[in-house]
Amino acid sequence: MKFNSVKFEISILYTAILGLILIAFSGILYLISNAFLHQIDQKLKDRAQAVDFTVRSYLGVLGDDHEAMAEAMAKTLAMKRENFLQRKTWKISQEWFQQSQELNLNNSYINIVSKDEKEVFSSSNMDQRMRLDFLEDIQFPSRSQAVFQTLNVEHKNIRVIDYLFTDRGVGQYLIQIGIAQDPIAQQLRNWLYSIAVSVPLILLLTSFVGRLLANRILKPVHEITTLANKITQQDLSARIKNRNFGTEMQSLVESFNEMIARLERSFQHIEQFSYHTAHELKTPLTIIQGEAELLLRRERTKEEYQQALRIVMEESRRVLKTVDDLLLLTKLGYTQEVFKFEQFDFVEFFHEIIEQNRLLAANKGIGIRVHLNNLNPPLMINGDRLHLRRLFFNIIGNAIKFTSEGGCIDIYIECSHGKVISSISDTGPGIAPENLKKIFEEFYRADKNTPGSGLGLPIAYTIAKLHQGEIHVDSQLGHGTTFKIILPQN
Ligand code: ADP
Repeated sequence: MKFNSVKFEISILYTAILGLILIAFSGILYLISNAFLHQIDQKLKDRAQAVDFTVRSYLGVLGDDHEAMAEAMAKTLAMKRENFLQRKTWKISQEWFQQSQELNLNNSYINIVSKDEKEVFSSSNMDQRMRLDFLEDIQFPSRSQAVFQTLNVEHKNIRVIDYLFTDRGVGQYLIQIGIAQDPIAQQLRNWLYSIAVSVPLILLLTSFVGRLLANRILKPVHEITTLANKITQQDLSARIKNRNFGTEMQSLVESFNEMIARLERSFQHIEQFSYHTAHELKTPLTIIQGEAELLLRRERTKEEYQQALRIVMEESRRVLKTVDDLLLLTKLGYTQEVFKFEQFDFVEFFHEIIEQNRLLAANKGIGIRVHLNNLNPPLMINGDRLHLRRLFFNIIGNAIKFTSEGGCIDIYIECSHGKVISSISDTGPGIAPENLKKIFEEFYRADKNTPGSGLGLPIAYTIAKLHQGEIHVDSQLGHGTTFKIILPQN
């Protein structure tokens, strides 16, 4: 697995999130169990101080030697009410009995040990085994007066305080008091230990699960990669099969398939385009070559040479026109810089175009009628004059080309909803409905014998599109054709 891979990131993220949750959970457990411990330690300290105070009280009346100490300890641990006859100590015993009840000392394990760990006085609830356990883990506090520890006695956790008792007369003793830990606190501690022990294992497992998950999520990506490696210019037919990938991946797969489909269409288009280009250039070049070969076969008359040269010139002009159109179409498709946008009055601009075409039409005996519908000049538009001129020349030129002598071309200009709409209607042969879509394809000509290379309308269409405009065509076979050019008004 690579360290900079998405798979690695997902599994690390997954593990990190779980790790953080575990740490937070353990932290809370730790704080709670510490609070429990603190509470229990405080209880132990209160009890140890009470025992310390009682022993001192007894010592105060019994004397200040080891024997008195032994008696004081015995009386303290007994926690009994003495009777009136024991004059010296009965009052202490009364109070101590009362206090030990309040402190619930009967539930505590009390053990008192001398400094040399010999003299042992224990509360009656401690058996031999427990006493040994207490003695085994004895800790004489060095700096503070008390130390705490948890002992495990017969599978029970007992919290113990080792409390130092010092008296100049009797020397040093250790008061050990233990109470069984609350089962809940004990459970919390156990959980804490279990979590601490199992964290590495859990994280290891999580990172493994994270990897599996990442593998599952990234499966379509692997498929796309494998497929992308298979795709070549020769075979663009491969697609990723539609399966249940999950919404996001599904849309990635769909986008990828659509991209391949678009690429396939583009390649097909380029193939056809190249084929048509070659074909379109081949015809005039073949004619030129044929004419030259024919001339060279034998000596020709001056008229024959002139006639042949005229044909060569005509065909060369055709080749040049096709090459020019192709270059323009390519430039329009790839570089927007060929456009020089400016603001100008469309009506004035259009009149110039009509006047120039009127002459061409008149030569063929065709009339041009112009209708300006409710226009308030100036009709400003933002566009490239040269290219728009080309657009209208191509369309009006076609109208003249396809209209027979005596026919008529009607041109309407109107303005509606911020758009300038120019309609050019001719009385020509019209276009068959099945061919209406094809006329905007490169090199399409309904009749291959009509002059032209079939690039005029694709150029016009591209120019209109690059001006955020549209071209629509409406035609009835035998009744003429109407081209509608819609351009946004500025
Ligand atoms: P060209 O540049 O050769 O004129 P176009 O792209 O302008 O080619 O036109 C392509 C074809 O569309 C024409 O050969 C013709 O079949 C059809 N067409 C275009 N305009 C008209 C029209 N006004 N009337 C009938 N057919 C038309």
